[in-house]
This record gives sequence, structure tokens and C-alpha cells, in this order.
Amino acid sequence: RNVIPHRHYHTNIGGKVPLGVMNKRKGLRIVVTGGAGFVGSHLVDRLIARGDSVIVVDNFFTGRKENLAHHFGNPRLELIRHDVVQPILLEVDQIYHLACPASPVHYKFNPTNVVGTLNMLGLAKRVGARFLLTSTSEVYGDPLQHPQAETYWGNVNPIGVRSCYDEGKRTAETLTMDYHRGLGIEVRIARIFNTYGPRMCLDDGRVVSNFVAQALRKEPLTVYGDGKQTRSFQYVSDLVEGLIRLMEGEHVGPFNLGNPGEFTMLELAQVVQEVIDPNAKIEFRPNTADDPHMRKPDISKAKELLGWEPTISLRQGLPLMISDFRQRIFGELRDVSA
Ligand code: NAD
Ligand code: UDP
Ligand code: UDP
Repeated sequence: RNVIPHRHYHTNIGGKVPLGVMNKRKGLRIVVTGGAGFVGSHLVDRLIARGDSVIVVDNFFTGRKENLAHHFGNPRLELIRHDVVQPILLEVDQIYHLACPASPVHYKFNPTNVVGTLNMLGLAKRVGARFLLTSTSEVYGDPLQHPQAETYWGNVNPIGVRSCYDEGKRTAETLTMDYHRGLGIEVRIARIFNTYGPRMCLDDGRVVSNFVAQALRKEPLTVYGDGKQTRSFQYVSDLVEGLIRLMEGEHVGPFNLGNPGEFTMLELAQVVQEVIDPNAKIEFRPNTADDPHMRKPDISKAKELLGWEPTISLRQGLPLMISDFRQRIFGELRDVSA
């Protein structure tokens, strides 16, 4: 097999570099897998805005070209339709690995987390790039520790309906650490907690997108189970800031990236009523199996080592996604009737 020498990893945008130097830095070449998706496309916006060249690798499983359409024509964006389960050769400085079927509706049958992560680690190894894995709070399973700190090992059912996702991400973390320890690859691991914002998939069954879409369509808000289970919801721009700080910083992680504000699903429904439609009805539905009872990040580590914490509360963030949702929902309705 051809051995291609590692390129020297160079970046001068660590947290302590003065602004003047930052402005003059050479643009990096960055791969974002899953960059046509919800989080990925917001990340791409930030990387392009700061002057980097971005290669998005996405198979459009849940992502959409429209999420990146505003960059078409910009020579610093390249969009490749490719499934990361297949190997790919690229020459880059950094890899943000987001590709993943990320919702219960989509993730059940897919080896992306394991095989896709292995391929991207292989790529990082070959070109000497820094690799960031977007893992998930689901690695904590139905947690027996609250809030969850990175030191908690989790309570995950290895054979349940969610296992492909949470065990898949746990395996991805293991592979990432093995490439780091065994082969000296520079890696970063983020454990992302529930995130919402514009461009969220409309039909993937996540609670925030469901409630917002339901309220806009004048349908009842579907609360699963008794609605007393909790989640902590983070606005997407806070997450993107955390991901970039993690990539540029000196610490491997894992780091929890989430908003510690904790809400029951009934409270979330109330906030959606306040913000969108006070007359929205609530309808109870049976819950899915293995649904975690509570989830709230302990973000002390990210605060201390990355100087990061979320700045946008749920009541501030929800209104920021309404116009995007309204446009997509009522645009879709027009398409259907046309
Ligand atoms: P998303 O579904 O919008 O984005 C995932 C992207 O990956 C999509 O564009 C999809 O087309 C692409 N993709 C899926 N399988 C692929 C494959 N085999 N090859 C190439 N591309 C593929 O989801 P998101 O919310 O933007 O999630 C991004 C990442 O963040 C995921 O890794 C997810 O696990 C992680 N995460 C998200 C949340 C959240 O609340 N949004 C929470 C925890 C972790
Ligand atoms: N890989 C890739 N792009 C690259 C280098 C590797 O997709 O630029 C894939 C490669 O096909 C393999 C995986 O990444 O399936 C792991 O590669 P590595 O070199 O670490 O393992 P090996 O090929 O030695 O088993
Ligand atoms: N949920 C709900 N109504 C919905 C969709 C989800 O009550 O229409 C609940 C779901 O049972 C879970 C919580 O909301 O307890 C968060 O679900 P989501 O799929 O958004 O995120 P995750 O379970 O992955 O944290």
C-alpha cells in the first residue's frame, strides 16, 4: 500500500493568539462530513465566514442541498455526494465528523457510526489531519447520575431499539481514542446534548421540531408518555461555537456541549404555546422503549478548559427557528397543492 507522508498540522488560531494574527492566518482546508445536515450546515457557515475552504461530504440521507445553497458559487465550498461508509481520499487539515443518521426514525439500520468513523480516522491518519467526533449525550443512556459529567460511563442497553445509535457512538468514541493513543492522531470528542434551531429536519420526530411544526400547523402537540421526562435544549449557534473552540483548543475531551437549562416535555410544550400559539392543544401518546428519563449536562469541564458556555436560553432560541419552519412548512404545502 502506498504510504503518503503525514502533512505537518499547522494552525495559528488557538484561543490565545492575538486578533491581528488571527485575521492574517492562512485558510485551512476542512472536511465536514454530514455538512448538509442541520448542525453541519451551521458549522459550514461559520468556517466559510472565517475564510476557510470547506469540503462537505454528505449522502443526503437526512441532509439537504438547500441548507448550503447560499454558498453555491463560492469557490471555497465543495459539496461531494458520498456515503462515508465507503473510503474516500481527500487532502485536508481538519475533519469535523458529523455524518450520522441522527434521529430515531433514521438511525436504526445504519453502520455509519462505526464504519464511517473508521474511514474518517483512516483519512485523518493518512494526511495528518485533526479529527473531531460529534458524539452524543446518548452515550450516557438512561443515566443513573444527574447531571451527567464526562466521567460518568453511562447506562446503555446494548440490544435495545436505540442501541445502534448510542452503542454506535460509544464505539465511535472508542475507535477515536484508539487512533489517538495507538497512532498519535490528533482527536477531539464532543458529546452533544439535544440541539435545536433553523434547518432542523422537519420530519425526523425530534421533540422540538415536532412541537414547533405542530404548533404552526395548528395541530396538537404530541407529548410522549407522561411528559415528565426531562431534556436540556441547546441553540445551534452555541453548539457550533463549542465545536470550533474544541477543535482549535488543546484538549482531547470528551466534552459535554449542551445547555444545562432542564425542561420536562410538558414544560417545553408550554414554552412552545407561549412563543407560537397559546391555543395549541396537548395530546398524550405512548412513549418509545428505552426513553431516557432525564438528561442534563454538567458543563464544568467545557467552561473551564474551553472557556465555553451557552448564551441562548430556550425562550430566546425558539423564536429564532420559527420563520425558517414557517417558510419550509407552508412552502411544502404549496408544493403539495400545486
Ligand atoms: P442531521 O441528520 O441534520 O445531519 C446528519 C448529516 O449526516 C445529514 O446531512 C446526513 O445526510 C448525513 N449522513 C448520514 N449518514 C451519512 C453517511 N453514511 N455518509 C455521509 N453523510 C451521511 O443531524 P444533526 O442534528 O445535524 O447531527 C449532526 C451530528 O451531531 C450527528 O453526528 C449527531 O449524532 C450529532 N448530535 C446531534 C444532536 C442534536 O440534537 N441535533 C445531539 C447529539 C448528537
Ligand atoms: N481510509 C479512507 N481514506 C483515507 C485513508 C483511509 O477512507 O484517506 C479508510 C480505509 O479505506 C480504511 C479505514 O479508513 O477502511 C481505516 O484506515 P487505516 O489506514 O487506519 O486502516 P487499515 O487500512 O490499515 O486497516
Ligand atoms: N417526545 C415527545 N413528543 C414528540 C417527540 C418526542 O414527547 O413529538 C419526547 C421523547 O419521548 C423524549 C423527548 O421528547 O422523551 C426527546 O426526544 P428527542 O427524540 O427529541 O430526543 P432524544 O430522545 O434523542 O433526547
